[in-house]
Amino acid sequence: MTEVLTQLFIGGAWVDAADGATMPVDDPATGEILCHVADAGPKDAKLAEEAAVQAQAEWARTAPRARSEILRRAYELILERTDELAHLMTSEMGKPLAEARGEVAYAAEFFRWFSEEAVRIDGGCGTLPDGRNRMLLSRRPVGPCLLITPWNFPLAMGTRKIGPAIAAGCTMILKPAPQTPLSSLALAGILKEAGLPDGVLNVVTTSRAGEVCEPLLRGGRIRKLSFTGSTGVGRILLAQCADTVVRTSMELGGNAPFIVFDDADLDVAVDGAMVAKMRNMGEACTAANRFFVHRSVAEEFGRRLAERMGALVVGPGTRDGVDVGPLIDRTGRGKVEELVADAVERGARVLVGGRTPEGPGCFYPPTVLTDVSPESRLMDTEIFGPVAAILTFDDEDEVLRRANDTPWGLVGYVFTQGLDRGLRVSEGLEVGMVGLNTGLVSNPAAPFGGVKQSGLGREGGRVGIDEFLEYQYVAVPVR
Ligand code: ADP
Repeated sequence: MTEVLTQLFIGGAWVDAADGATMPVDDPATGEILCHVADAGPKDAKLAEEAAVQAQAEWARTAPRARSEILRRAYELILERTDELAHLMTSEMGKPLAEARGEVAYAAEFFRWFSEEAVRIDGGCGTLPDGRNRMLLSRRPVGPCLLITPWNFPLAMGTRKIGPAIAAGCTMILKPAPQTPLSSLALAGILKEAGLPDGVLNVVTTSRAGEVCEPLLRGGRIRKLSFTGSTGVGRILLAQCADTVVRTSMELGGNAPFIVFDDADLDVAVDGAMVAKMRNMGEACTAANRFFVHRSVAEEFGRRLAERMGALVVGPGTRDGVDVGPLIDRTGRGKVEELVADAVERGARVLVGGRTPEGPGCFYPPTVLTDVSPESRLMDTEIFGPVAAILTFDDEDEVLRRANDTPWGLVGYVFTQGLDRGLRVSEGLEVGMVGLNTGLVSNPAAPFGGVKQSGLGREGGRVGIDEFLEYQYVAVPVR
């Protein structure tokens, strides 16, 4: 394995924090410290900002093909190092190695996708309706960006933002989550190797997110924020962006409904539930949070889901045969425990799981709750853990109303064999994405994002690069 990178990456150089501070990175499977990484403060943020601002003009002038080829080389390097990156990710984040390998491929794909988009940034030229003026339309990089990523997909959330920023010609500062800095630093190493010019990407790992990010957002030199994280933090950042009118893309929380109609193929629905619930141990903003199952099939669905969930092997992500790794930390697990306890107090029945195991590591068993009361806290809180909460419904209008009765609107899942019903319910859901008879929607070629308090803007797809581009229109009179 190549050396694990632990310093800040600023202006193309690996450096310690100005005040020498470091922070520990824990292995959630054992609770032990894996290593220490640099813990950036405001001074380091300033240096990173300076590097990004200095590099912007020249980077914006780089040939699109050159930017495209850097992304393409990085894509290939990531794939070549799949095992190494997967191990690194599993050790700092906990997900089983098979899932970590899957994430490496998913993460790399954003670079391939945006390497293809970099050379397709278009403009326009035309005559205005009055016939006396021409219009030249061009697209410019928005400018230096701050990218803030969460810990649940340490590599893919980075590439989903870095890919379009590079393609568009923006420079950037990446601030990864403090729990998972190693994957981001490894990514920076790969991009340097792929030929990314100094200063285009800067990475500041820090336990002091507020102190590092607020001055950047209020300083007037960062022109764009791309954030993935909780709605609570998203709101704080939006307020900070308001003063200097920083452009924002926000991927925030979700509260996904998973709707199973009486005409659904239950095998397909249970398969879908396993993915929508258990991908990443349930630690995903796309995770199914509320299972609405038609009363006539609820018992059968619950029994089959509990059987499948109960058969999953829980353990350290590096061990062969493990399906479910530890949750990210004790705080995350504590929240899951509280939500389950609250649901049970309000009358939910535990079909499987529900009990925290003894011993080290932040493990929590796959859990299915049925007869969940609509008053339970988990109905309006992201569970972020391997807990499926089942409620019943009687008709379509009712379930749509209940599914939409939430401030969030990221994704919904619908299971039915009726084409009309599937489309009607998908269209009725107030969400940015729908899985119709599937539990997986994420794909680099599709626009990912939510409505309502789940966010602003889209990542990936043809529109992903737009978030990093501005239009400029030049009026030229016809003489
Ligand atoms: P989670 O609860 O899943 O950790 P957060 O929204 O707290 O989600 O974190 C997502 C990202 O936002 C992380 O990189 C975290 O460090 C960062 N973050 C948290 N608080 C702030 C803040 N006040 N300013 C900037 N970034 C923040």
